[in-house]
Amino acid sequence: MTEPTDFISEIVRADNEAGTFDARVQTRFPPEPNGYLHIGHAKSIVVNFSTAQRFGGICNLRMDDTNPETEEAEYVEGILEDLRWLGYEPSKVVFASDYFEQLYAWAEYLVEQGKAYVDDQDGDTISEQRGGYGKPGIESPYRSRPAAESLDLLRRMRAGEFEDGARCLRAKIDMQSENMWLRDPVLYRIRRASHHRTADTWSIYPTYDWAHGQSDAIEGVTHSLCTMEFESHRPLYDWLLEQLPLPGDKPQQTEFARMEVTHTITSKRRLRNLVEDGVVEGWSDPRMPTLRGLRRRGYPAGAIRAFCVETGTTRTNSRQAIELLESFVRRDLNLTAQRRMVVLRPLRLVLDNWPTDADGNPEVEYFEVANNPENPDDGTRRVAFTGTLVIERDDFAEVPPPKFFRLSPGKEVRLRGAYLITATSVVKDSDGEVVEVRATYDPLSKGGSAPDGRKVKSTMHWVSVPQSVPVQAALYDRLFTAAVPGEASGEPLDDLNPASRELLTDALAEAAVAEASPGQVLQFERLGYFAADTDQPGLFHRTVGLRDEWAAIQKRAAKQ
Ligand code: ATP
Ligand code: MG
Repeated sequence: MTEPTDFISEIVRADNEAGTFDARVQTRFPPEPNGYLHIGHAKSIVVNFSTAQRFGGICNLRMDDTNPETEEAEYVEGILEDLRWLGYEPSKVVFASDYFEQLYAWAEYLVEQGKAYVDDQDGDTISEQRGGYGKPGIESPYRSRPAAESLDLLRRMRAGEFEDGARCLRAKIDMQSENMWLRDPVLYRIRRASHHRTADTWSIYPTYDWAHGQSDAIEGVTHSLCTMEFESHRPLYDWLLEQLPLPGDKPQQTEFARMEVTHTITSKRRLRNLVEDGVVEGWSDPRMPTLRGLRRRGYPAGAIRAFCVETGTTRTNSRQAIELLESFVRRDLNLTAQRRMVVLRPLRLVLDNWPTDADGNPEVEYFEVANNPENPDDGTRRVAFTGTLVIERDDFAEVPPPKFFRLSPGKEVRLRGAYLITATSVVKDSDGEVVEVRATYDPLSKGGSAPDGRKVKSTMHWVSVPQSVPVQAALYDRLFTAAVPGEASGEPLDDLNPASRELLTDALAEAAVAEASPGQVLQFERLGYFAADTDQPGLFHRTVGLRDEWAAIQKRAAKQ
């Protein structure tokens, strides 16, 4: 293994050398179960799990389930499933709600120590009094109430005696602190809501700040790795832990940058809106940046991991190009995906000189084709060839534009792995549209090369109609047209791509495509990588196109 050089590994290594935490390393990945995991979470997962792995430590999956209103058991299951798919097995699956009793006991302890008090004011008044930068905080009139009174009220809050929001428990720290989080933050609020695990046991729920560091300490986390927005919470994280009789070492919070990806969003709330508004077909829609969406789209877990590793861990928030993520996907699939021939938008191609057998039926010839030239272990398959074929509609032009080297009347091209053919004429429908191309093949060019060595510029994929199977292919474009959705207007939805999905229903595939297993990714030659849908047989999602710099550049130029 190469020596890690990211700053988090440096911190951990220094801690180990100094004997901090007895050289133990324990991290955790702490999602809130209010949605499914997305590509941003993958970064956090890779950071937490790989840091633990690298130093022989452990990493728990902790459900940060302190908001009963928004959390659901469905997401808990989904998160674990997606985490495992990404390639990580948590040492333990734990829940912040497992610690509600301990957190509550510690809250009483803080009150007894004169470090916390019950405030009878409402939330608006409390935030008003918090002040702001350059605006001093105002102390609550309840701040100096006797500890015994706060303790009594806290117990009655727990017992459910008061309305939601009627009172709260606050830490007594410093209303004049430069750090807003230290201005007597709220630790418990009254929420008489049913929780997905503790049901109606609790009428009060801890805030993020009260739950997080304490949960870390209860579990024995050494390095609590979180994203930059929690940097300003760190003094509070430390203060709270310093007041408590901890069972072990005080964990240490270290922040790293969030990762965003162009043309998509990584806010669970906004992703949920896309689902609820029917913009996409659920959390596993192949256009979603969720792990289940990417999986359905055909992204290999290893490609996502490699992307997260190679983009590095820093303290500067960054937005990575989606093209970069796609290049990891392509690199992976190039080695693993078997090749097949599929025609997405078929145009009939009839070979007039194709032979018939003794009974007058057209001959069928079989070609033995490698499944994956990158991997000989994938073996070969037989592909049927006859005189009744389909080719891609845009591989033919009756009147070829300049530099069009594919098929047109009088032109000779290669049908991949089969024969050289020359177009002779076209058949049109009543609208004047070409519905069939007639051609002749050169029987001496079997395998695709002419014995006289004559040059043929284009090689095209094809499917023989009698042996073909019908398939549907979903093609995808960016979910958001803007690289930074919402950058111009402040509203990401303004940048939604109205044409992010196109379903082709007339595609014809060679017979072997029918054997694709659910979720299997195949390379459709010249068209890209396609994942077999996990539920609907015969439906394929285009994972990514094949590298086509030229088309990409053209598209960019056309947009400007
Ligand atoms: P959201 O706003 O989408 O709900 P969140 O940060 O509230 O995001 P959590 O479920 O709390 O979502 O996230 C679990 C962990 O993943 C946290 O430690 C969080 O910092 C981290 N995380 C979330 N989004 C990203 C991201 N885009 N890049 C890196 N880490 C992330
Ligand atoms: Mg969060």
